[in-house]
This record gives sequence, structure tokens and C-alpha cells, in this order.
Amino acid sequence: MYTLAIDLGGTKLSAALIGEKHDITQRRELPTPASASPQSLEYALAELTGHYQGKAHRVAVASTGIIANGVLTALNPDNLGGLNHFPLQACLEKLTGLPCLVLNDAQAAAWAEYCLLSDRFRHVTFITVSTGVGGGSVIAGRLLTGPHHFAGHIGHIQADPHGPICGCGRTGCVEAIASGRAIAAGAKHDLRGKDARAIFARAEQGHLQARQLIARSAEAIAQLSASLKALLDTECIVLGGSIGLAPGYREQVEELLTRLPPAFHLPVYPARYRHDAGLMGAALWCEYCAT
Ligand SMILES: [Zn+2]
Repeated sequence: MYTLAIDLGGTKLSAALIGEKHDITQRRELPTPASASPQSLEYALAELTGHYQGKAHRVAVASTGIIANGVLTALNPDNLGGLNHFPLQACLEKLTGLPCLVLNDAQAAAWAEYCLLSDRFRHVTFITVSTGVGGGSVIAGRLLTGPHHFAGHIGHIQADPHGPICGCGRTGCVEAIASGRAIAAGAKHDLRGKDARAIFARAEQGHLQARQLIARSAEAIAQLSASLKALLDTECIVLGGSIGLAPGYREQVEELLTRLPPAFHLPVYPARYRHDAGLMGAALWCEYCAT
């Protein structure tokens, strides 16, 4: 039994075959169509899935956005442009003739990381800090998706009522303070206009403002982790994303957590699947749902 796993991100579209031993083969990648029109996405999906014709028994998709009943929507519709309300599941079923299951990408990654830790923990929360901030929680061995498929949009928990306006319309969300986009937006003087990657490089050279911007991000993620422990009694945090996995960042979050009262302490592990988290999470979730 092979699963054709697909990861639809804001910038790239990847696919691979995942076997029963969870081996990833025949990985392919395309840029997500820049025009973001339904027709261009359908064309790109047709091109991608055409390579796997006759090789898989089912399709599992991890996608950006909110996936409600197989349809792609977004908290901030500007993020998806013309792809808002794209019928992802129906489109892939039509293209492949196979049953298809679609899941939010951070929820998929949370499930993948949980599967690696399930011999030790039953309550695991995954946080990705990248261009945005997202996540997913597994509680008592069950992935939380929610009645509106909104569970895990933890980047939109408020961190500072006087903070910047977030893309979702709310004020001071964690995402508006901790994400790569927020780190870049907060840069002033000689760092103005630099992206998060450049700011991390300057911080490593000891640049004070760069270090402060990263510390502010790590503080928001540490406080978010503590809030999630209070809410869910999660046993650990798994931190992923390009910022979450940047050298020294996770250690900063962990150190900031130790300054809080002991009830809020919890271990913070690095995500292990990295760029395969969406593909693997969707395939593992599909396998779990089929049993
Ligand atoms: Zn928000």
C-alpha cells in the first residue's frame, strides 16, 4: 500500500510516495503557482500527480490554510489570493481517481512528531515558527482538529494587547511578534529592510538590536508554551520551522521557560521531520484514519 503524499505550501508544492515502512521515495517539488488562480493550481496538481499514476492507492495532503471538509480557506484570505475556497480534496480525487484526505500542514506535522514520541508521551504540542506561527496538539493520543478545523492556529493567540496588528485582524498575536515576518518588520536603523535570516546572521555576530528582536520572538514563544501547558497540560513542546530550528533559538525558549514558576516548565524538543513533516504527517494521519 503506497500513499501519495502532497504538501501544498505558500511557496512550494511537494509530493512523494510513502510506503508501509514509512520510507519516502520519488520526491518531487514544484513552485506553488505564483498567479494563485484555481486553474493554475489545478494544472500544477495535474502535472505533479501525473508522475505517480498507477503507483499509489490513496492520496494524503498537508496544506496551508484552514481545511474545512476538504476545501481550502484562510484566516487571512489575502494569504491565499484566488485560492480561497479551492476544493482541494475534490480536485485531487478527480485527477487521481483515488480516495483523498486533506489536513492542515501544521496539524499534519504535529501528528508526525507525535508519532515519533508516542512511546514516551500522549500529550504533545507542535509549534512551528517560520514566516508565520502555527501548530497542532495531540491530546491523549488524539489530534485536535476542532469542529471548524481551526485547532492549532496558536499563532493567533494574543501575546501583547498593545502589540502590532496581525494579518488575521487581531491585535498583538504571537505571530505578529514572533514570526520571521514580524522579526523583519520590527527591524530599525541599520537592520531596516533585512529579512529574518539576515537578522539571525547579525545576531550571531553580536549585533544588539538583532539579538533583542530574536529574544522578543523567543519570549513570545516561551509564554505561548506556558499558556498551552496551562490550557492543555501538554507534556512537551516540539519546535519546528526555520526560526524554531535556527541555532540557539530553541535553547533560548527553554531557558526563558525555566524563569517561570515550576508549574509552567516543560521540555522543548527540536522537530525531527523538518521539511518532510507535512508529507509524512499527512501519510501517517491517513494510515491512522484507515485503521
Ligand atoms: Zn493573528
